[in-house]
Amino acid sequence: MAYRLSQTSLSRLDGVHPDLVRVVKHAITITQIDFMVLEGLRTIARQRQLVKQGASQTLRSKHLTGHAVDLVPFIDTDGDGDSEISWHWPHYHKLAPFIKQAAKECEVALSWGGDWRSFKDGPHWELDPKRYPFP
Ligand SMILES: [Zn+2]
Repeated sequence: MAYRLSQTSLSRLDGVHPDLVRVVKHAITITQIDFMVLEGLRTIARQRQLVKQGASQTLRSKHLTGHAVDLVPFIDTDGDGDSEISWHWPHYHKLAPFIKQAAKECEVALSWGGDWRSFKDGPHWELDPKRYPFP
């Protein structure tokens, strides 16, 4: 089954680094599990709010520079025929290999928050700081 990025997902890629946009747009064509772009570029005000809420641990988020995107599985989790965002880790583990494959095929160095040892962040994907220096 072939999926497409929704207008909402596409609009959330505004201001995101072109290499990362390329990976996301390729990923949607090869993935076996549908996904949405939850967030791309973020303002410092929103970042401060997230840190306050405990949803993020840093004010130096890669989202502030367009070096990160949050991707969420978009599937029918409750069987009502409509897709919704999934927060279940198994769905993130199902999605991750397709994003990694897309990154490899686009020759973009990407790191997944789900692979981090502490504070695992399933939706989070960011450009490798070694290849894409963070200001
Ligand atoms: Zn993120």
